Amino acid sequence: MKWKQRIEGKKTKIIATLGPASSALDTLTKLCEQGVNAIRLNASHSSDPQSLVQWIHLARKVSDQLQRHMGVIVDLQGPKIRIGTFKEGAIVLKEKALFSLTTQEVDGNQDRVSVSYAGFVDDIKPGDPIFIDDGKVRLEAEHKSKDSVQCRVIRGGRLSNKKGVNLPLTTLRISPFTDKDRQDVKAIIQEDIDYIALSFVSKAEDITRLRYFLDQHNRNRIKIIAKIERQQAIDNLAQIIDASDAVMVARGDLGVEVGIEKVPKLQKMIIRESNRRLKPVIVATQMLESMVNSETATRAEVSDVANAIYDHCDAVMLSAETATGINPIQVINTMARICKATDTHVKDLRIQGDYILQQRFENNTIATSFCKAAEQIAYENKAKAIMAFTSSSNTPLIASKLHSLFPIIAPTDEAYICQRMSLFRGVLPMMMPTLFRDIQSWSNMIVLAVEQAKSLEMLEKGDVIVVTAGIPIGKSNGINSIRIIRV
Ligand code: PGA
Ligand code: MN
Repeated sequence: MKWKQRIEGKKTKIIATLGPASSALDTLTKLCEQGVNAIRLNASHSSDPQSLVQWIHLARKVSDQLQRHMGVIVDLQGPKIRIGTFKEGAIVLKEKALFSLTTQEVDGNQDRVSVSYAGFVDDIKPGDPIFIDDGKVRLEAEHKSKDSVQCRVIRGGRLSNKKGVNLPLTTLRISPFTDKDRQDVKAIIQEDIDYIALSFVSKAEDITRLRYFLDQHNRNRIKIIAKIERQQAIDNLAQIIDASDAVMVARGDLGVEVGIEKVPKLQKMIIRESNRRLKPVIVATQMLESMVNSETATRAEVSDVANAIYDHCDAVMLSAETATGINPIQVINTMARICKATDTHVKDLRIQGDYILQQRFENNTIATSFCKAAEQIAYENKAKAIMAFTSSSNTPLIASKLHSLFPIIAPTDEAYICQRMSLFRGVLPMMMPTLFRDIQSWSNMIVLAVEQAKSLEMLEKGDVIVVTAGIPIGKSNGINSIRIIRV
């Protein structure tokens, strides 16, 4: 499908999680053709890091065949705590009963079960709430002994093997970059991936620790997504966003830890903070959940996706819907249609003046001033697009964060920069036919890029575009020039 039909109106990026339902070559190809911009691999579901490597190769194969510069995201499991197994497979806990969680490996029974996190007893304080199975069963810590915590059952229910544990108010001493995560990252660090998502982040140092690891392996081109899913991450939000390269509103665990009723408010807050701080932001989990088992979405889900776009996120994400759902292609088709309709409406609202024209940033710089100027020149001169040359992805990101009315064509000479921009709302990554350093002049560079954009059907003769660049490209310290041209 040509560029024009493919993206007309759609600005919001779509992330699809790869899984058994989507890992056939032709299925994944169709998903990408229908509008997927980035592929997420969930390391929680890989017991063997080599399977991650195979999935990365599959994603790259599809991306290369379609010449689409898809982003590839590896989502690390992080310190996901689980209970062990029960002798009988499951038990039923009654309210007010006593129940122990132990770090010893034991067969679970009516009185106790083991828990997978070795630091559990050290970190828990009497009075801390303990949620099991997405908060369906709730305990409160009462007494600690050497290797177990005795708890009171606050909300009873059925408990079965290996259910997840959330500790919403406990300060975890464990780093969210666990031993399993380290093994997974070691296995994939030399692969062609763009982002690593870190789960259960609590503070900025959690991000800097992973960044240090990447730096040590000379792989700092891999960027880090902070998954916001703990109360402590909300408490330290600004510092975490500043330390990260992108942000995910991980609504699943976030809802368990803070209460589902607070998720909409926090979603708006996280998106606003990310936009002010110039970081791409993803809304994730249960966006089209009913489509795991159904061919159509509920109206409530459609509204939820649209609402995330009205909140000004960059990307919307699918998890089980594309990993294990009955019809991933239909899921992406639905998602792309919602994005297109809502993105078009957001643009209409802005033109009518119902929306604040420009986003306010935490810090104004020369680059943000130039991008605002480019947006205004484009608006007043009825431009078709903004063309933002980049060797770092920085200018296209800022232009996108202004909630630009225009498509942002982003010519660059590195494939990994194209791939990184797969998460930026409204940005169309474009590979230059020539390396920047081999181009003689700024005019020459524009001619080459315009020809390329025309051949990809992004532009046609007569279109007005506003061009921004840092001249000399690659050697300047950022954007310093704007031109307006007619194609
Ligand atoms: P997960 O993260 O699917 O890896 O748990 C997303 C979330 O918690 O919403
Ligand atoms: Mn999670």
